[in-house]
Amino acid sequence: MDKAPSQPRTVAVVGSGMAGLVTAHLLHQDSQRRFRVTVLEKNKQISLSAESIAIPSNEQDEPVWADVPMRAFAGGFYHHLIRMYDYLGINYHSQPFLFSFTRLPRHPQRETIPSPRMIYASNFHRLPPIPRTQDLVQWMLEAAFALLCYFWFTICVFLVTPVAEDLRTGSAGESLDAYLRRIHLPQTYVTVYLLPLISSVCTCSHEELLQFPASDVLDYKRRTHQQQHYVVSGGVRSVQDMLLQGLDVRLGVELTSVSPQDTGVDIQYRAPDGRQQSEHFDLIVLAVSPDIAASLYPRLNKPLSSIPTTTVETVAHTDDFSIRPMLHATASSSLLSLSLGKKKSPATQARTTQRIHILSTHLTTESVHEQPNSIFVTTNPIFQPDQSKVIRSARFTRVLRSPHSRMLVNSIFQDPLKRSSSTLQSWRSGDHGVYLAGGWCWDGMVLLEGCIVSAMRIAKDLEVCIPWQMEE
Ligand SMILES: Cc1cc2nc3c(=O)[nH]c(=O)nc-3n(C[C@H](O)[C@H](O)[C@H](O)COP(=O)(O)OP(=O)(O)OC[C@H]3O[C@@H](n4cnc5c(N)ncnc54)[C@H](O)[C@@H]3O)c2cc1C
Repeated sequence: MDKAPSQPRTVAVVGSGMAGLVTAHLLHQDSQRRFRVTVLEKNKQISLSAESIAIPSNEQDEPVWADVPMRAFAGGFYHHLIRMYDYLGINYHSQPFLFSFTRLPRHPQRETIPSPRMIYASNFHRLPPIPRTQDLVQWMLEAAFALLCYFWFTICVFLVTPVAEDLRTGSAGESLDAYLRRIHLPQTYVTVYLLPLISSVCTCSHEELLQFPASDVLDYKRRTHQQQHYVVSGGVRSVQDMLLQGLDVRLGVELTSVSPQDTGVDIQYRAPDGRQQSEHFDLIVLAVSPDIAASLYPRLNKPLSSIPTTTVETVAHTDDFSIRPMLHATASSSLLSLSLGKKKSPATQARTTQRIHILSTHLTTESVHEQPNSIFVTTNPIFQPDQSKVIRSARFTRVLRSPHSRMLVNSIFQDPLKRSSSTLQSWRSGDHGVYLAGGWCWDGMVLLEGCIVSAMRIAKDLEVCIPWQMEE
Protein backbone atom coordinates (compact mmCIF):
# COMPACT_ATOMS: atom_id res chain seq x y z
CA MET A 1 0.00 0.00 0.00
CA ASP A 2 1.32 3.46 -0.92
CA LYS A 3 2.13 5.78 1.94
CA ALA A 4 -0.05 8.82 2.55
CA PRO A 5 1.45 11.95 0.95
CA SER A 6 2.21 13.37 4.37
CA GLN A 7 4.41 10.39 5.24
CA PRO A 8 7.83 10.67 3.59
CA ARG A 9 9.24 7.62 1.82
CA THR A 10 12.28 6.19 3.55
CA VAL A 11 15.40 5.96 1.36
CA ALA A 12 18.67 4.24 2.24
CA VAL A 13 21.63 5.54 0.24
CA VAL A 14 24.48 3.05 0.53
CA GLY A 15 27.94 4.61 0.09
CA SER A 16 29.23 8.07 0.98
CA GLY A 17 31.34 8.77 -2.12
CA MET A 18 30.39 11.61 -4.46
CA ALA A 19 27.50 9.63 -6.04
CA GLY A 20 25.92 8.67 -2.70
CA LEU A 21 26.23 12.16 -1.22
CA VAL A 22 24.82 13.94 -4.28
CA THR A 23 21.87 11.51 -4.52
CA ALA A 24 21.16 11.90 -0.79
CA HIS A 25 21.45 15.69 -1.04
CA LEU A 26 19.05 15.90 -3.99
CA LEU A 27 16.37 13.72 -2.39
CA HIS A 28 16.76 15.42 0.99
CA GLN A 29 16.26 18.92 -0.46
CA ASP A 30 13.03 17.93 -2.24
CA SER A 31 10.76 20.95 -1.81
CA GLN A 32 7.79 18.71 -0.98
CA ARG A 33 9.76 16.81 1.71
CA ARG A 34 8.72 13.44 0.24
CA PHE A 35 11.85 11.53 1.28
CA ARG A 36 13.52 10.67 4.58
CA VAL A 37 17.08 9.86 3.59
CA THR A 38 19.63 7.81 5.55
CA VAL A 39 23.20 7.40 4.28
CA LEU A 40 24.83 4.08 5.23
CA GLU A 41 28.63 3.84 4.98
CA LYS A 42 30.74 0.83 5.92
CA ASN A 43 33.79 2.92 6.82
CA LYS A 44 34.15 4.99 9.97
CA GLN A 45 34.46 8.20 7.93
CA ILE A 46 32.56 9.79 5.06
CA SER A 47 34.50 8.49 2.09
CA LEU A 48 34.52 11.48 -0.29
CA SER A 49 37.44 13.18 1.45
CA ALA A 50 38.46 10.46 3.89
CA GLU A 51 41.97 10.13 2.43
CA SER A 52 42.66 13.83 1.73
CA ILE A 53 45.71 15.22 3.53
CA ALA A 54 46.24 18.59 5.18
CA ILE A 55 49.44 20.27 4.02
CA PRO A 56 51.13 21.82 7.05
CA SER A 57 51.59 25.58 6.89
CA ASN A 58 53.91 27.68 9.06
CA GLU A 59 52.34 30.89 7.91
CA GLN A 60 49.07 32.73 8.41
CA ASP A 61 47.56 30.96 5.41
CA GLU A 62 44.68 28.56 5.75
CA PRO A 63 45.97 24.95 5.60
CA VAL A 64 45.90 23.51 2.10
CA TRP A 65 44.06 20.25 1.53
CA ALA A 66 45.50 17.89 -1.06
CA ASP A 67 42.81 15.60 -2.37
CA VAL A 68 43.66 11.91 -2.39
CA PRO A 69 42.71 10.56 -4.81
CA MET A 70 42.93 13.55 -7.06
CA ARG A 71 39.56 15.19 -7.73
CA ALA A 72 40.51 17.42 -10.67
CA PHE A 73 37.96 18.38 -13.31
CA ALA A 74 38.01 20.18 -16.63
CA GLY A 75 35.73 22.49 -18.54
CA GLY A 76 33.76 20.87 -21.36
CA PHE A 77 33.51 17.42 -19.80
CA TYR A 78 32.31 18.16 -16.25
CA HIS A 79 29.26 20.20 -17.19
CA HIS A 80 27.00 18.97 -14.36
CA LEU A 81 29.73 18.86 -11.71
CA ILE A 82 30.61 22.51 -12.41
CA ARG A 83 26.92 23.54 -12.34
CA MET A 84 26.56 21.78 -8.98
CA TYR A 85 29.71 23.39 -7.53
CA ASP A 86 28.48 26.82 -8.65
CA TYR A 87 25.08 26.18 -7.07
CA LEU A 88 26.70 25.03 -3.79
CA GLY A 89 29.02 28.06 -3.84
CA ILE A 90 32.18 25.91 -3.91
CA ASN A 91 35.42 27.80 -4.59
CA TYR A 92 37.56 26.25 -7.27
CA HIS A 93 40.48 27.52 -9.29
CA SER A 94 42.18 26.65 -12.56
CA GLN A 95 45.17 24.41 -12.12
CA PRO A 96 47.84 24.27 -14.83
CA PHE A 97 50.06 21.19 -14.82
CA LEU A 98 53.52 20.30 -16.08
CA PHE A 99 53.80 16.63 -17.01
CA SER A 100 57.19 14.96 -17.23
CA PHE A 101 57.45 11.66 -19.09
CA THR A 102 60.07 9.14 -18.02
CA ARG A 103 60.40 5.81 -19.80
CA LEU A 104 61.53 2.98 -17.55
CA PRO A 105 63.18 -0.26 -18.69
CA ARG A 106 61.27 -3.55 -18.53
CA HIS A 107 62.74 -4.37 -15.14
CA PRO A 108 63.11 -0.97 -13.50
CA GLN A 109 65.57 -0.51 -10.65
CA ARG A 110 65.05 2.05 -7.92
CA GLU A 111 68.72 3.08 -8.10
CA THR A 112 68.83 3.71 -11.86
CA ILE A 113 65.75 5.71 -12.73
CA PRO A 114 66.47 7.56 -15.99
CA SER A 115 65.92 11.29 -16.46
CA PRO A 116 62.72 12.44 -18.20
CA ARG A 117 62.39 12.14 -21.93
CA MET A 118 59.99 15.07 -22.36
CA ILE A 119 58.13 17.68 -20.36
CA TYR A 120 54.72 18.89 -21.48
CA ALA A 121 52.71 21.89 -20.25
CA SER A 122 48.93 21.31 -20.07
CA ASN A 123 47.17 23.20 -22.89
CA PHE A 124 50.65 24.45 -23.90
CA HIS A 125 50.16 27.15 -21.24
CA ARG A 126 53.90 27.84 -21.15
CA LEU A 127 57.11 26.68 -22.74
CA PRO A 128 58.13 23.55 -20.90
CA PRO A 129 61.72 23.31 -19.63
CA ILE A 130 64.12 21.25 -21.71
CA PRO A 131 65.64 18.48 -19.57
CA ARG A 132 69.27 19.60 -19.41
CA THR A 133 70.39 15.96 -19.22
CA GLN A 134 69.24 15.48 -22.84
CA ASP A 135 71.25 16.16 -25.95
CA LEU A 136 69.61 19.25 -27.50
CA VAL A 137 69.41 17.93 -31.08
CA GLN A 138 68.02 14.60 -29.92
CA TRP A 139 65.51 16.42 -27.73
CA MET A 140 64.38 18.63 -30.63
CA LEU A 141 63.83 15.60 -32.84
CA GLU A 142 61.89 13.86 -30.09
CA ALA A 143 59.79 16.99 -29.44
CA ALA A 144 58.99 17.33 -33.17
CA PHE A 145 57.97 13.66 -33.30
CA ALA A 146 55.78 13.95 -30.19
CA LEU A 147 54.16 17.15 -31.48
CA LEU A 148 53.41 15.69 -34.91
CA CYS A 149 51.86 12.59 -33.35
CA TYR A 150 49.87 14.73 -30.93
CA PHE A 151 48.46 16.83 -33.78
CA TRP A 152 47.63 13.73 -35.82
CA PHE A 153 45.82 12.17 -32.84
CA THR A 154 43.92 15.42 -32.21
CA ILE A 155 42.84 15.67 -35.86
CA CYS A 156 41.62 12.04 -35.73
CA VAL A 157 39.73 12.67 -32.50
CA PHE A 158 37.66 15.31 -34.28
CA LEU A 159 37.40 13.73 -37.73
CA VAL A 160 37.62 9.94 -37.44
CA THR A 161 34.68 8.57 -35.46
CA PRO A 162 35.09 5.21 -33.74
CA VAL A 163 33.14 2.24 -35.10
CA ALA A 164 29.86 2.19 -33.19
CA GLU A 165 28.19 -0.87 -31.69
CA ASP A 166 25.45 -2.53 -33.70
CA LEU A 167 22.30 -2.68 -31.60
CA ARG A 168 20.61 -5.16 -33.96
CA THR A 169 23.39 -7.76 -33.98
CA GLY A 170 24.69 -6.88 -30.54
CA SER A 171 28.29 -6.47 -31.74
CA ALA A 172 30.23 -4.15 -29.43
CA GLY A 173 31.88 -0.90 -30.55
CA GLU A 174 35.54 -0.28 -31.29
CA SER A 175 38.16 -0.59 -28.56
CA LEU A 176 40.85 2.05 -28.06
CA ASP A 177 43.43 -0.50 -29.23
CA ALA A 178 41.62 -1.11 -32.54
CA TYR A 179 41.09 2.62 -33.07
CA LEU A 180 44.75 3.56 -32.49
CA ARG A 181 45.80 0.88 -34.98
CA ARG A 182 43.23 2.09 -37.51
CA ILE A 183 44.53 5.67 -37.41
CA HIS A 184 48.15 4.40 -37.64
CA LEU A 185 49.35 6.36 -34.64
CA PRO A 186 53.03 5.38 -34.23
CA GLN A 187 53.45 2.70 -31.55
CA THR A 188 56.33 4.58 -29.87
CA TYR A 189 54.12 7.60 -29.30
CA VAL A 190 51.29 5.38 -28.05
CA THR A 191 53.44 3.53 -25.51
CA VAL A 192 55.71 6.38 -24.37
CA TYR A 193 53.24 9.29 -24.23
CA LEU A 194 49.59 8.56 -24.96
CA LEU A 195 48.93 5.46 -22.82
CA PRO A 196 50.94 6.74 -19.83
CA LEU A 197 49.11 10.09 -19.92
CA ILE A 198 45.61 8.57 -20.17
CA SER A 199 46.40 5.79 -17.75
CA SER A 200 47.45 8.39 -15.18
CA VAL A 201 43.84 9.67 -15.44
CA CYS A 202 42.20 6.23 -15.52
CA THR A 203 44.76 4.73 -13.06
CA CYS A 204 44.86 1.33 -14.74
CA SER A 205 47.39 -0.74 -16.70
CA HIS A 206 48.07 -0.03 -20.37
CA GLU A 207 46.49 -3.33 -21.39
CA GLU A 208 43.30 -2.51 -19.46
CA LEU A 209 43.22 0.95 -21.01
CA LEU A 210 43.57 -0.43 -24.54
CA GLN A 211 40.38 -2.43 -23.91
CA PHE A 212 38.37 0.75 -23.15
CA PRO A 213 35.76 1.79 -25.71
CA ALA A 214 37.52 4.20 -28.10
CA SER A 215 34.46 6.46 -27.80
CA ASP A 216 35.20 7.08 -24.07
CA VAL A 217 38.72 8.39 -24.67
CA LEU A 218 37.79 10.34 -27.80
CA ASP A 219 34.78 11.95 -26.16
CA TYR A 220 36.90 12.97 -23.15
CA LYS A 221 39.63 14.41 -25.38
CA ARG A 222 37.16 16.21 -27.66
CA ARG A 223 35.29 17.81 -24.79
CA THR A 224 38.35 18.81 -22.75
CA HIS A 225 40.40 20.02 -25.73
CA GLN A 226 41.93 23.42 -24.86
CA GLN A 227 39.81 23.60 -21.70
CA GLN A 228 41.18 24.54 -18.30
CA HIS A 229 41.68 22.00 -15.54
CA TYR A 230 40.34 22.94 -12.11
CA VAL A 231 40.58 21.80 -8.52
CA VAL A 232 38.43 22.72 -5.53
CA SER A 233 40.33 25.40 -3.60
CA GLY A 234 39.66 23.99 -0.13
CA GLY A 235 39.73 20.36 -1.32
CA VAL A 236 36.62 18.19 -1.78
CA ARG A 237 36.18 18.35 1.99
CA SER A 238 34.28 21.62 1.38
CA VAL A 239 31.98 19.86 -1.13
CA GLN A 240 31.42 17.05 1.34
CA ASP A 241 30.47 19.50 4.10
CA MET A 242 27.92 21.22 1.88
CA LEU A 243 26.34 18.00 0.62
CA LEU A 244 26.09 16.53 4.12
CA GLN A 245 24.04 19.39 5.56
CA GLY A 246 20.91 18.03 7.25
CA LEU A 247 21.57 14.41 6.27
CA ASP A 248 21.20 11.45 8.61
CA VAL A 249 24.43 9.43 8.25
CA ARG A 250 25.28 6.12 9.85
CA LEU A 251 28.97 5.21 9.71
CA GLY A 252 30.45 1.74 10.25
CA VAL A 253 27.33 0.10 8.76
CA GLU A 254 28.16 -2.52 6.12
CA LEU A 255 25.30 -3.64 3.94
CA THR A 256 25.32 -7.40 3.37
CA SER A 257 22.16 -8.05 1.33
CA VAL A 258 19.24 -6.43 -0.42
CA SER A 259 15.86 -8.19 -0.82
CA PRO A 260 13.08 -6.33 -2.62
CA GLN A 261 9.59 -7.04 -1.24
CA ASP A 262 6.11 -6.38 -2.66
CA THR A 263 6.40 -2.91 -1.22
CA GLY A 264 9.83 -1.58 -0.38
CA VAL A 265 13.14 -3.29 0.20
CA ASP A 266 14.50 -5.29 3.15
CA ILE A 267 18.21 -4.85 3.83
CA GLN A 268 20.61 -6.77 6.03
CA TYR A 269 23.68 -5.08 7.42
CA ARG A 270 26.52 -5.46 9.90
CA ALA A 271 26.09 -2.77 12.54
CA PRO A 272 29.09 -0.94 14.07
CA ASP A 273 29.00 -3.38 17.03
CA GLY A 274 29.41 -6.31 14.59
CA ARG A 275 25.85 -7.61 14.97
CA GLN A 276 23.81 -8.54 11.90
CA GLN A 277 20.64 -6.45 11.64
CA SER A 278 17.80 -5.94 9.19
CA GLU A 279 15.68 -2.95 8.32
CA HIS A 280 13.00 -2.00 5.84
CA PHE A 281 13.17 1.02 3.49
CA ASP A 282 10.83 2.15 0.74
CA LEU A 283 13.73 2.69 -1.68
CA ILE A 284 17.41 1.87 -1.74
CA VAL A 285 20.22 3.49 -3.73
CA LEU A 286 23.35 1.38 -4.15
CA ALA A 287 26.06 4.02 -4.68
CA VAL A 288 28.83 1.40 -4.66
CA SER A 289 31.06 -0.21 -7.29
CA PRO A 290 29.39 -2.81 -9.57
CA ASP A 291 31.19 -5.80 -8.00
CA ILE A 292 29.78 -4.84 -4.58
CA ALA A 293 26.29 -4.17 -6.00
CA ALA A 294 26.37 -7.61 -7.66
CA SER A 295 27.31 -9.30 -4.38
CA LEU A 296 24.55 -7.51 -2.44
CA TYR A 297 21.66 -8.11 -4.80
CA PRO A 298 21.72 -11.51 -6.60
CA ARG A 299 19.51 -10.14 -9.38
CA LEU A 300 22.42 -7.93 -10.43
CA ASN A 301 24.99 -10.69 -10.39
CA LYS A 302 24.72 -11.58 -14.07
CA PRO A 303 24.63 -8.11 -15.62
CA LEU A 304 27.24 -6.54 -13.36
CA SER A 305 29.77 -9.34 -12.91
CA SER A 306 31.31 -8.74 -16.35
CA ILE A 307 32.08 -5.09 -15.62
CA PRO A 308 35.85 -5.02 -15.10
CA THR A 309 37.33 -3.44 -11.97
CA THR A 310 40.82 -3.05 -10.58
CA THR A 311 42.42 -1.90 -7.34
CA VAL A 312 44.52 1.25 -7.23
CA GLU A 313 47.00 2.20 -4.53
CA THR A 314 47.83 5.80 -3.66
CA VAL A 315 50.64 6.75 -1.28
CA ALA A 316 51.17 10.23 0.18
CA HIS A 317 54.80 10.61 1.25
CA THR A 318 57.87 12.82 1.39
CA ASP A 319 60.30 10.51 -0.42
CA ASP A 320 61.51 12.29 -3.58
CA PHE A 321 63.75 9.47 -4.85
CA SER A 322 61.71 8.65 -7.98
CA ILE A 323 61.71 12.25 -9.20
CA ARG A 324 65.30 13.13 -8.33
CA PRO A 325 66.43 12.59 -11.95
CA MET A 326 63.68 14.99 -12.98
CA LEU A 327 64.73 17.58 -10.39
CA HIS A 328 68.31 17.22 -11.55
CA ALA A 329 67.29 17.56 -15.20
CA THR A 330 65.41 20.80 -14.56
CA ALA A 331 67.65 22.15 -11.80
CA SER A 332 68.33 25.40 -13.62
CA SER A 333 64.64 26.00 -14.14
CA SER A 334 62.90 28.51 -11.91
CA LEU A 335 60.29 25.82 -11.37
CA LEU A 336 62.56 24.12 -8.90
CA SER A 337 61.30 26.50 -6.28
CA LEU A 338 57.92 24.86 -6.61
CA SER A 339 59.12 21.46 -5.60
CA LEU A 340 61.37 22.68 -2.83
CA GLY A 341 58.53 24.80 -1.49
CA LYS A 342 60.71 27.62 -0.22
CA LYS A 343 59.64 30.66 -2.12
CA LYS A 344 55.88 30.50 -1.97
CA SER A 345 53.35 29.73 0.72
CA PRO A 346 51.46 26.41 0.40
CA ALA A 347 48.23 28.21 -0.56
CA THR A 348 49.99 30.14 -3.34
CA GLN A 349 51.85 27.06 -4.53
CA ALA A 350 48.60 25.14 -4.79
CA ARG A 351 47.32 27.77 -7.22
CA THR A 352 50.39 27.89 -9.48
CA THR A 353 51.64 25.24 -11.86
CA GLN A 354 51.83 21.80 -10.31
CA ARG A 355 54.02 19.02 -11.58
CA ILE A 356 52.94 15.47 -12.30
CA HIS A 357 55.71 12.99 -13.07
CA ILE A 358 54.68 10.09 -15.25
CA LEU A 359 57.02 7.11 -15.06
CA SER A 360 56.04 4.21 -17.26
CA THR A 361 57.18 0.74 -18.25
CA HIS A 362 55.69 -1.02 -21.29
CA LEU A 363 52.93 -2.34 -19.00
CA THR A 364 52.00 0.27 -16.46
CA THR A 365 52.34 3.87 -15.30
CA GLU A 366 53.17 5.39 -11.94
CA SER A 367 52.26 9.04 -11.47
CA VAL A 368 53.81 11.26 -8.83
CA HIS A 369 51.89 14.45 -8.11
CA GLU A 370 54.00 17.12 -6.37
CA GLN A 371 52.13 18.93 -3.65
CA PRO A 372 53.26 22.02 -1.75
CA ASN A 373 55.84 21.57 1.03
CA SER A 374 57.59 18.68 -0.76
CA ILE A 375 54.74 16.24 -0.28
CA PHE A 376 54.20 13.73 -3.07
CA VAL A 377 51.15 11.66 -3.92
CA THR A 378 52.11 8.55 -5.87
CA THR A 379 49.39 6.61 -7.67
CA ASN A 380 50.04 3.04 -8.78
CA PRO A 381 53.58 2.93 -7.39
CA ILE A 382 56.12 0.98 -9.42
CA PHE A 383 58.65 1.90 -6.73
CA GLN A 384 57.46 1.82 -3.14
CA PRO A 385 58.50 4.95 -1.21
CA ASP A 386 60.59 4.57 1.93
CA GLN A 387 58.15 3.40 4.64
CA SER A 388 59.51 5.91 7.14
CA LYS A 389 58.48 8.73 4.77
CA VAL A 390 54.93 7.52 4.13
CA ILE A 391 52.22 9.83 5.47
CA ARG A 392 49.27 7.72 4.43
CA SER A 393 48.40 5.07 1.87
CA ALA A 394 45.03 3.90 0.61
CA ARG A 395 43.51 1.48 -1.88
CA PHE A 396 40.55 2.26 -4.12
CA THR A 397 38.40 0.18 -6.42
CA ARG A 398 38.51 1.60 -9.92
CA VAL A 399 35.78 0.60 -12.35
CA LEU A 400 37.11 -0.03 -15.84
CA ARG A 401 35.38 0.03 -19.20
CA SER A 402 35.19 -2.20 -22.26
CA PRO A 403 32.95 -2.04 -25.35
CA HIS A 404 30.94 -4.95 -23.93
CA SER A 405 30.56 -3.52 -20.40
CA ARG A 406 29.57 -0.19 -21.97
CA MET A 407 26.63 -1.93 -23.67
CA LEU A 408 25.65 -3.61 -20.41
CA VAL A 409 25.74 -0.33 -18.47
CA ASN A 410 23.74 1.46 -21.17
CA SER A 411 21.27 -1.37 -21.14
CA ILE A 412 20.65 -0.93 -17.40
CA PHE A 413 20.22 2.83 -17.59
CA GLN A 414 18.86 3.63 -21.03
CA ASP A 415 15.51 3.69 -22.64
CA PRO A 416 14.70 0.03 -23.67
CA LEU A 417 14.32 1.16 -27.29
CA LYS A 418 17.96 2.19 -27.42
CA ARG A 419 19.24 -1.07 -25.96
CA SER A 420 20.75 -3.93 -27.91
CA SER A 421 18.99 -7.29 -27.98
CA SER A 422 22.08 -9.25 -26.89
CA THR A 423 22.74 -7.18 -23.77
CA LEU A 424 19.13 -6.26 -23.03
CA GLN A 425 18.70 -6.64 -19.30
CA SER A 426 15.24 -7.26 -17.96
CA TRP A 427 16.27 -5.29 -14.85
CA ARG A 428 16.63 -1.53 -15.02
CA SER A 429 17.90 0.82 -12.34
CA GLY A 430 14.89 1.75 -10.21
CA ASP A 431 13.03 -1.54 -10.67
CA HIS A 432 11.73 -3.09 -7.41
CA GLY A 433 12.80 0.01 -5.47
CA VAL A 434 16.54 -0.51 -6.10
CA TYR A 435 18.56 2.24 -7.80
CA LEU A 436 22.21 2.31 -8.84
CA ALA A 437 24.45 5.39 -8.74
CA GLY A 438 28.18 5.88 -9.20
CA GLY A 439 30.96 7.20 -11.38
CA TRP A 440 30.44 4.11 -13.56
CA CYS A 441 26.66 4.54 -14.01
CA TRP A 442 26.71 6.49 -17.26
CA ASP A 443 28.07 6.27 -20.76
CA GLY A 444 31.56 7.72 -20.33
CA MET A 445 34.88 7.58 -18.49
CA VAL A 446 34.49 6.63 -14.84
CA LEU A 447 35.05 10.03 -13.25
CA LEU A 448 33.20 12.41 -10.95
CA GLU A 449 30.87 13.63 -13.71
CA GLY A 450 29.29 10.15 -13.86
CA CYS A 451 28.50 10.42 -10.12
CA ILE A 452 26.53 13.64 -10.68
CA VAL A 453 24.76 12.42 -13.82
CA SER A 454 23.65 9.17 -12.15
CA ALA A 455 22.45 10.99 -9.01
CA MET A 456 20.50 13.46 -11.15
CA ARG A 457 18.94 10.59 -13.08
CA ILE A 458 17.52 9.13 -9.84
CA ALA A 459 16.20 12.54 -8.80
CA LYS A 460 14.49 12.94 -12.18
CA ASP A 461 12.98 9.48 -11.95
CA LEU A 462 11.49 10.40 -8.57
CA GLU A 463 10.36 13.78 -9.95
CA VAL A 464 12.64 15.73 -7.65
CA CYS A 465 13.66 19.15 -8.92
CA ILE A 466 17.43 19.56 -9.51
CA PRO A 467 18.28 23.06 -8.30
CA TRP A 468 21.35 23.59 -10.50
CA GLN A 469 19.28 22.74 -13.59
CA MET A 470 16.46 25.13 -12.89
CA GLU A 471 17.73 27.94 -15.12
CA GLU A 472 18.70 25.60 -18.00
C1 LIG B 1 43.54 7.22 -7.85
C2 LIG B 1 42.30 7.83 -8.41
C3 LIG B 1 42.35 9.10 -8.97
C4 LIG B 1 41.19 9.68 -9.49
N1 LIG B 1 41.25 10.94 -10.02
C5 LIG B 1 40.11 11.52 -10.46
C6 LIG B 1 40.11 12.86 -10.93
O1 LIG B 1 41.13 13.56 -10.89
N2 LIG B 1 38.94 13.39 -11.40
C7 LIG B 1 37.78 12.67 -11.44
O2 LIG B 1 36.75 13.20 -11.89
N3 LIG B 1 37.74 11.40 -10.98
C8 LIG B 1 38.87 10.82 -10.49
N4 LIG B 1 38.83 9.54 -10.03
C9 LIG B 1 37.58 8.79 -10.13
C10 LIG B 1 36.60 9.22 -9.07
O3 LIG B 1 37.29 9.43 -7.85
C11 LIG B 1 35.54 8.13 -8.91
O4 LIG B 1 34.90 7.95 -10.14
C12 LIG B 1 34.50 8.52 -7.88
O5 LIG B 1 35.10 8.87 -6.67
C13 LIG B 1 33.54 7.37 -7.66
O6 LIG B 1 32.63 7.77 -6.66
P1 LIG B 1 31.43 6.84 -6.25
O7 LIG B 1 30.58 7.60 -5.31
O8 LIG B 1 30.80 6.24 -7.46
O9 LIG B 1 32.10 5.58 -5.51
P2 LIG B 1 33.08 5.49 -4.22
O10 LIG B 1 33.77 6.78 -3.99
O11 LIG B 1 33.87 4.27 -4.49
O12 LIG B 1 32.07 5.26 -3.04
C14 LIG B 1 31.51 4.00 -2.73
C15 LIG B 1 31.25 3.98 -1.25
O13 LIG B 1 30.50 2.82 -0.90
C16 LIG B 1 30.99 2.32 0.34
N5 LIG B 1 30.61 0.92 0.42
C17 LIG B 1 31.06 -0.09 -0.36
N6 LIG B 1 30.47 -1.24 0.01
C18 LIG B 1 29.61 -0.95 1.03
C19 LIG B 1 28.71 -1.73 1.82
N7 LIG B 1 28.58 -3.04 1.63
N8 LIG B 1 27.99 -1.10 2.79
C20 LIG B 1 28.12 0.24 3.00
N9 LIG B 1 28.98 1.03 2.28
C21 LIG B 1 29.70 0.44 1.30
C22 LIG B 1 32.50 2.53 0.21
O14 LIG B 1 33.12 2.49 1.48
C23 LIG B 1 32.54 3.91 -0.42
O15 LIG B 1 32.47 4.91 0.55
C24 LIG B 1 39.97 8.95 -9.47
C25 LIG B 1 39.90 7.68 -8.87
C26 LIG B 1 41.06 7.13 -8.33
C27 LIG B 1 40.96 5.78 -7.68
